[in-house]
Amino acid sequence: MPKPEDVLGFKVGADRKLADMHQIVEYFRKLDRVSPRVLLQEVGKTTEGNPFITAVITSVENHKNLEKYRMIQQRLSDPRQLSEQEAERMISEGKAIVMVNCSLHATEVGAGQMSMELAYDLATRDDDETRRILDNVILLLTPMHNPDGTQMVVDWYRKNLGTQYEGGRMPWLYQKYTGHDNNRDWYMFTQVESRLTLKVHNAWHPMVIVDMHQMGSTGARLFVPPYVDPYEPNVDPILRQEVAMMGTYMATELTSQGKGGVEHSSGFDAWTPARAYHHYHGGIRILTEAASVKLATPIEVPFEELRPAVQEESVRMPLPWKGGAWTLRDIVDYDYAAVMAALTNTAGLRKSWLRNFYNIHKKAVDPDRRPYAYVIPAAQRDLPAALRMLEVFRLGDVEVHRAESGFKADGHSYPAGTFIVFMAQPFGGFAKTLLERQKYPEIREYPGAPLKTPYDVVGHTLPLLMGVDVMKVESPFKVKTSALDTIVIPKGRLAKETGGFGYVWGHETNDDIAACNRLLGKGYRVYWNADKFQANGTDYPIGRMIVEKKAGLEADLRAIAGDLPVTFQPLPEKPKVRVYALKKPRLGLYKSWTASMDEGWTRWVLEKFEFPYQSIVDADIRKGNLHRNFDVILIPDMRDAAIVEGLSEEDVPPEYAGGIGDVGVKNLEDFVSRGGALITLNSAAEFAIQRFHLGIENTVKDLNRKEFFIPGSILKVLNETTHPIAYGFERDASIFFRRSPVFAVNEGTSVAQYPTASLLSGWAGGAEHLVNRSALVDVPIDKGRIILIGFPTQYRAQTHLSFRYLFNAIFYGAAAPERF
Ligand SMILES: [Zn+2]
Repeated sequence: MPKPEDVLGFKVGADRKLADMHQIVEYFRKLDRVSPRVLLQEVGKTTEGNPFITAVITSVENHKNLEKYRMIQQRLSDPRQLSEQEAERMISEGKAIVMVNCSLHATEVGAGQMSMELAYDLATRDDDETRRILDNVILLLTPMHNPDGTQMVVDWYRKNLGTQYEGGRMPWLYQKYTGHDNNRDWYMFTQVESRLTLKVHNAWHPMVIVDMHQMGSTGARLFVPPYVDPYEPNVDPILRQEVAMMGTYMATELTSQGKGGVEHSSGFDAWTPARAYHHYHGGIRILTEAASVKLATPIEVPFEELRPAVQEESVRMPLPWKGGAWTLRDIVDYDYAAVMAALTNTAGLRKSWLRNFYNIHKKAVDPDRRPYAYVIPAAQRDLPAALRMLEVFRLGDVEVHRAESGFKADGHSYPAGTFIVFMAQPFGGFAKTLLERQKYPEIREYPGAPLKTPYDVVGHTLPLLMGVDVMKVESPFKVKTSALDTIVIPKGRLAKETGGFGYVWGHETNDDIAACNRLLGKGYRVYWNADKFQANGTDYPIGRMIVEKKAGLEADLRAIAGDLPVTFQPLPEKPKVRVYALKKPRLGLYKSWTASMDEGWTRWVLEKFEFPYQSIVDADIRKGNLHRNFDVILIPDMRDAAIVEGLSEEDVPPEYAGGIGDVGVKNLEDFVSRGGALITLNSAAEFAIQRFHLGIENTVKDLNRKEFFIPGSILKVLNETTHPIAYGFERDASIFFRRSPVFAVNEGTSVAQYPTASLLSGWAGGAEHLVNRSALVDVPIDKGRIILIGFPTQYRAQTHLSFRYLFNAIFYGAAAPERF
């Protein structure tokens, strides 16, 4: 049986030594070959094509019956099909299923390194404790949640060993698109790694999931749950108690081993499902956060430099850490002990874990649950968005039904074909939290204190984020339905009649935009009409998309309609209207060496909807002559200082330091005055307002948290629908708001304003500061323009409805007004 050091050439956790992705995979492959207790699965390939592996570790006897135990778990998750006697039998026969997800964040290297040692011990040890674990538990061990990132981080670390940058930050994202946000994807499932983890999770529905992280260096040595309030209300109370029980059990074990500085009940809450898929699927999410070193380089943390809160013993941490040397090996030891505690707990209380798992789902399928259902009409303004929302539910193992006949519910009539999500189903709570509007609770330390800062964002209502109409139905109703296994997005259509001038299509969906990109890419002329018109007896509102005929058009439209849900209507003659003549935008996306996650998400969204773009770095902007290569430059959600000053040479090698500098600001100004469009996203507006002296004021800039605080909520805006950036939108729209500016407009045109009552979902403190202020401004400057999109328009690739502000702004920035 190979030890990790036999393969790596060093001991796990040794100072300045890290196993990279290839070595970790190689080690697990070797174990898989020789150990009958270890079964390695390559679940799939990562974003960058690397193997994503999970090791199934249990006794040899259990390995022979793996499928049986998997089925027990599946059946216990759906008590509708189970008698009490059958359930009892399964509870007594089943195994505790534990999933350990290591190093979700690739710079948090400790757990990934530890995983090899853990697997080796479980594969080789024969003491009573290990046997008890192997007999009672099936462990699903994912050594690297983000193998691509592990490789990048280890490469960077090795390259800088022995230099002043040893252990320092890497100037790009450690997951191609999301970086640190890769664990904020647990309901939208946009990323490959999320979906691969889901595959393992949904096959097994583990009751315990240990998510292993690291945090800063001066706090506790290890955080474990309980979490602090609030819990998202759809998380079952049984599960919340299990979280507390497991967390304090881990803390007890580590404390008993003399490991000081283990803290619970601090900092981390359990509100957003974006980090906690498991909480809606019968599994507890145990977050562990170990204190970091500089990757594998040891550090000294003198006691007096520890945060005051962890210097003194408390009910949260009865054994403080004494301070001193802190090493990768320490992290490995703490992480190892934490996982072992989870395994001994589940092994010892196997039946209790199985029974609780069953009880949680028994409550979930109770037919008396209310609301009874959510109804999603098939007649939607943006049907593809509705279907993509239903796809999210299917990925989350939620049953989605379609009505076979018309029906009545809560006094409304719905036709056949209407989609229905019943709430009484095993994972109905997952759908419910994503369908309903959030009311974030008002938690204050004392009356008049600012709101307790939520750990993450607080609004996650998908119908609002995606622009989908849904109806909540309280009372039970009768309807014949069929369950949908997969959600099919219908194809589009090309009308039979030929268009003399060309064809016209909609502007309501992101697929309409993708179609536009395909046609521009093939060299067709595409326009948006700025006046309404009639053709073939149909009234066309402003902002339709029109493609002008040339050879091959019908074949190309047919191909697009065969692939995207876009329908093209013929246009017999040129309408006598004003238009915007679009061109294939030469788009530059600013990529900062500060590794902006928003830049990564922006890339993901642009690629998804087929925008060609080029990344531009500081050196490109400093070089100037930007108008030669670009029509539109996009600055993601970043602070002014990060853009202009960037990182310091103290932190990164000189080629990555310094930002765009004053010369870059000058070059962007030159770009705009020569006709370019500069688009800033969310907080980057401040950069444009200050540096280009715009007649726009961010009116919430100097307000404190007591006066104004909107920690990631969904708000309503009113659009100026005659402005091209709002084409395809209705008057009302919902947007996401987080660390966003609010504009008083003394120059340019406001495209979207906040109404009197703007909060739709989440929390808004001081919302009166929004009233009649602008969320999006178009400021013409010389021959060009600056467009301030004052909210995260493509937030974590969740806000499908508001993607189109960005898409429209890009096209508009490169378009020329014309008269047909
Ligand atoms: Zn982390």
